[in-house]
Amino acid sequence: MHHTRAMRKPVLRRGRTIWLGRKKPAARYPVLREHHETDVAIVGGGMTGAMIAEAFTRDGVRVAVVEAAHIGHGSTAASTALLLREPDYDLKALSDRYGKRIGKRIWMLSQDAARDFVDTLRRLKIACDLTRRDSLYYTLDEDSARELQRELKRRHKAGLTGRWLDPAALLRASGIHGTGAIRTSNAQLNPLQACIGLVKAAARRDAAIFEGSTINQIRSIGDGVRLYSANGTIDAKQVVIATGYATRYFRPLAGRFKLRHTYVLATNRINTRERRRLRIGKVMLWDTARPYHYVRWTSDRRLLLGGEDHPVKPGARRALQFADATRALREYFEGLFPALGDVGIDTAWEGLFAMTPDSLPYIGPHRRYPRHAFALGYGGNGMTFAALAARILVEQWRGVASPDHALFAFNR
Ligand SMILES: Cc1cc2nc3c(=O)[nH]c(=O)nc-3n(C[C@H](O)[C@H](O)[C@H](O)COP(=O)(O)OP(=O)(O)OC[C@H]3O[C@@H](n4cnc5c(N)ncnc54)[C@H](O)[C@@H]3O)c2cc1C
Repeated sequence: MHHTRAMRKPVLRRGRTIWLGRKKPAARYPVLREHHETDVAIVGGGMTGAMIAEAFTRDGVRVAVVEAAHIGHGSTAASTALLLREPDYDLKALSDRYGKRIGKRIWMLSQDAARDFVDTLRRLKIACDLTRRDSLYYTLDEDSARELQRELKRRHKAGLTGRWLDPAALLRASGIHGTGAIRTSNAQLNPLQACIGLVKAAARRDAAIFEGSTINQIRSIGDGVRLYSANGTIDAKQVVIATGYATRYFRPLAGRFKLRHTYVLATNRINTRERRRLRIGKVMLWDTARPYHYVRWTSDRRLLLGGEDHPVKPGARRALQFADATRALREYFEGLFPALGDVGIDTAWEGLFAMTPDSLPYIGPHRRYPRHAFALGYGGNGMTFAALAARILVEQWRGVASPDHALFAFNR
């Protein structure tokens, strides 16, 4: 097989995110030059590539990671990094689509992946502000509240946890005048530090890491693949594509992904008096609207307010959409928390989501691309699924068969 089209470097975010400093990042790893050999070559040094590199090296596999720009500076640096055990689709939505048993299994796997993610960061002592936080999945209207209560019952029946908050309890915990919420235990973190820490851990186990190196061609050679950048090559037994979504290079796969922009506002630091007026406790919030809205605190006492996903628009329309979407976000949240009106917005940014038809990622091989494994298509819950991808790809590499793999396969 011979791919000739260049893998285009996508534009993954816009605006200054709070995780990035004002200075240009210093290169931590060399540019790919000359020829290298490895077992598994990973294209993409975002959270997904980082998680996968950590998992493979933990398993004793030789790894190389090739990142076009800087480690973690793609969508990962735009992420608000609520580490949720809940997939984007409710248990009902996934059960309606795939049947009760599979819906429940996907939810269980997502729960396990969130736990694995936290365990890995703790085990490696990665400093990334990892904090356990409850999340409130809230709603503002009566009909949705009834539906949400049914959803919680379904989850309990499936052995999943969660607690119902009535309007008074929701108000006490969050300052929101809503009709109810499901409360679950989750976590939050700094995604850039987590990603860099995971890659460092892989590098300590002798993974070869390259930055500033776009892979623009992959060819089959013997029983492996050869990756080409402008200045070097890597031979590997397998390549893992962790570029967020299928770039135009994988044209037959690209149609499976709908790219959406998603927007975030970061407030200025909020003092104790303002905090009391806002009444938002130490919780993460997300709502039942689609596209949804969400909120979390940062360790330096700002609020991150996110949502307003829109289909990707080119050029000038994109700039207009950025202005409209960030204004709409502000209006929504000032409606929800009137005291926010007195708290200034420090910065706003947009990032890219690659949505799939069922909101689940594609993890594993594709029949058209021998010795390729993919880990693509992460929506709002991308970090959790990055941990799941790491588990599945290591199992597949080892030849461990599992019915779980089919749930995320291209031909599901
Ligand atoms: C605004 C926003 C908020 C989010 N909030 C959350 C949240 O609260 N919780 C959650 O779980 N998830 C969230 N997500 C999703 C999560 O951040 C992503 O799923 C995750 O960061 C994706 O990581 P990735 O490694 O797959 O992609 P990326 O971080 O985009 O990494 C892909 C990398 O591949 C590189 N690349 C591309 N092409 C090539 C090539 N040809 N050669 C070499 N390198 C290449 C890119 O430079 C890039 O660094 C959010 C995303 C956004 C945008």
